[in-house]
Amino acid sequence: MLIGVPKEIKNHEYRAGMVPGSVREVIAHGHEVIVETNAGAGIGFTDEDYIAAGATILDTAEEIFAKAEMIVKVKEPLAEERKRLREDQILFTYLHLAPDMPQTQDLVNSGAICIAYETVTGRQGGLPLLAPMSEVAGRMSIQAGAQCLEKSRGGLGMLLGGVPGVSPAKCVVIGGGVVGSNAIRMAVGLGARVVVLDRNVDVLRRINAEFGSRVETVFSSQESLEQEVTSADLVIGGVLIPGAAAPKLVTEEMVKQMKPGAVLVDVAIDQGGCFETSHATTHAEPTFIKQDVVHYCVANMPGAVPRTSTFALNNVTLPFILNIANKGYKEALAKDPHLLNGLNVYKGQVTERSVAENLGFEY
Ligand code: NAD
Repeated sequence: MLIGVPKEIKNHEYRAGMVPGSVREVIAHGHEVIVETNAGAGIGFTDEDYIAAGATILDTAEEIFAKAEMIVKVKEPLAEERKRLREDQILFTYLHLAPDMPQTQDLVNSGAICIAYETVTGRQGGLPLLAPMSEVAGRMSIQAGAQCLEKSRGGLGMLLGGVPGVSPAKCVVIGGGVVGSNAIRMAVGLGARVVVLDRNVDVLRRINAEFGSRVETVFSSQESLEQEVTSADLVIGGVLIPGAAAPKLVTEEMVKQMKPGAVLVDVAIDQGGCFETSHATTHAEPTFIKQDVVHYCVANMPGAVPRTSTFALNNVTLPFILNIANKGYKEALAKDPHLLNGLNVYKGQVTERSVAENLGFEY
């Protein structure tokens, strides 16, 4: 199969659909890869790196879209990319169609086979092509929070792990899922005093088994949230209710009772945020102060570390890319129900129920 990797054109998107290592792997399976010039420039890969892996470099996105049987990307195609999609062409990327009528309509009109990373499911449950970005955001949340605790950023002026003879900061993690457990791992590593709240006791059991007495596990209720959040130095919000907006677990009243200079990192901001006082920020201006509390609410945290994020994403997309390329999309989709769950638009038909229901398409 001829696989095409265009350069990402969304503002401040530096990730690439495939790293040279992945290119080499699919070529070893007998396929061909065409890559747009400079596609890897934002993550430190030159055209020569891709050529050394066996790819052919083409000058324009037009040529990539015109020739490739499967397009592998990171972000949803923008309008000018959607115009280039062809009937029967496979598109494999993040799509997030449910709130996006113009994109969905264009994909339907294109007649392409559009498989969305975010709805591909895993054998052990969960969403394996979303998980790496939660891992990155969870780990980054502690890095970002630790910096916000510095005086110059408006924080308490506290070192997360303290020093011998001086107490560490208290870090409260709300939600012990992928984001939460990765945040916990970093906070424990830096020597913080860590408390995690979740309303799923099995999640608390897993964290207890992994971290033992280094992490205090607390069942999440209004009362426990109030107690833990108001006494925290750093709070990480990593809750998720699948398919719904994040619940506003921390009210403005609770934020008012926090210490001046305490820090809130709202990782769930991409789902609306779990603190009442949050609003989305960008990497250019990541924080604001409200009720004397520093808020970090960047909606695309992995965008700050595109190199790590591209590798993490490629590690999980590569087996699916190979499967589609080796078997062809018909057999690959027919034989893998998890890949089939990723199919959002198939030759003019919306095939993902929540997208169809949300936007009024026939399903
Ligand atoms: P997950 O499903 O793995 O974990 C969510 C956890 O929240 C679960 O353990 C669940 O039991 C818990 N939870 C639900 N309601 C709760 C409550 N009332 N109190 C305490 N815990 C509660 O999800 P995840 O992959 O960790 O993602 C968490 C959030 O981070 C999502 O909103 C996701 O979209 C977001 N995210 C943001 C970025 C970013 O750049 N800002 C990047 C990746 C993920």
